[in-house]
Amino acid sequence: MPNLPVYFILALAGLQTLAAGQEAAPALMLGAYAHPGAFWERGERLDDFGVNAVFIHSGGLDDDTIQRARAEGCRVFAEFATLNGQYGDYVLEHPEAHPIDDSGEPVAPATWFLGACPTDPGFRAFRMSALRDLLTRFDVDGVWMDYLHWHAQFEDPYPIFVKTCFNESCLGGFQQSTGLHVQGETVAQKARWIFMNAASQWEDWRVSVLVDWAREIHDTVKELRPNALVGNFQVAWKDEDLGGVRRRCLGLDFRALRPYVDVFSPMTTVAPANHQNTSASTSSILASTSTFAPSRATIPVCGPLCRLTTNRAFPLRSWPASWNTASAPRARVS
Ligand SMILES: [Zn+2]
Repeated sequence: MPNLPVYFILALAGLQTLAAGQEAAPALMLGAYAHPGAFWERGERLDDFGVNAVFIHSGGLDDDTIQRARAEGCRVFAEFATLNGQYGDYVLEHPEAHPIDDSGEPVAPATWFLGACPTDPGFRAFRMSALRDLLTRFDVDGVWMDYLHWHAQFEDPYPIFVKTCFNESCLGGFQQSTGLHVQGETVAQKARWIFMNAASQWEDWRVSVLVDWAREIHDTVKELRPNALVGNFQVAWKDEDLGGVRRRCLGLDFRALRPYVDVFSPMTTVAPANHQNTSASTSSILASTSTFAPSRATIPVCGPLCRLTTNRAFPLRSWPASWNTASAPRARVS
């Protein structure tokens, strides 16, 4: 989630489902995203506007901010940039954590976002250490996982979806998890073998990797701040939107994440822009996502989506041709 220059309000309902022993939370929270410094500089108070929560980037938290927000009746939640490879310039300084695409090349940054390889042990240790530091230093009311997804960009009017990651740790992790032996000499050959022979297992494994991140973050939060909530900023798309791209490309599965997330926060601020431009970009998105399908039999998913657009219907092709031409790392739509 970018640092928006303006506030937006989140309505968080359903918090009454907290575990036993936790302090009862109000049924409805009206929260402001981003540091309220500019707002305070105008001499305003958060409670004058009915705001009772603030969501502040973990790097922007300090004791004075927490104290003032609480004095104005707010709970303080930390936004935690989970898989943002640009955080701390980590990927720049640790190229082994740069996501690798299905041609074996480091993936290009997606506008203002660059993901990190979720299975890179160094990056994971780096983020988990930052989480512990945050929780140890600040008595926050919760931590909201942001950027919990594989490399992609869904916050742009023209979303960018890329198939990653095929570096050593991901290929190794996938094989270890599934018991499959991925065939091929080069990364490109291995990626193609996966797409052609084990695409659904690969999608499931990618989901499981993110769930394991959520599990460790959840457990760490509850260990260090037992009353704190664990939230997740989520792309506001339904399971079936854009050919199931939320699960198939981003690797996000609400049901799988649910045990480790107290509150999901759909990012409705970006959904309208994406949907307005769906007709212009659907073909390209489908070209990208269709290769996640395990077989040709799933290609008809393009049908209903294409009917929503004014574009020429996404052509049904032979499976290898579709993989080769339409679905190589997706070019940005312009
Ligand atoms: Zn990887």
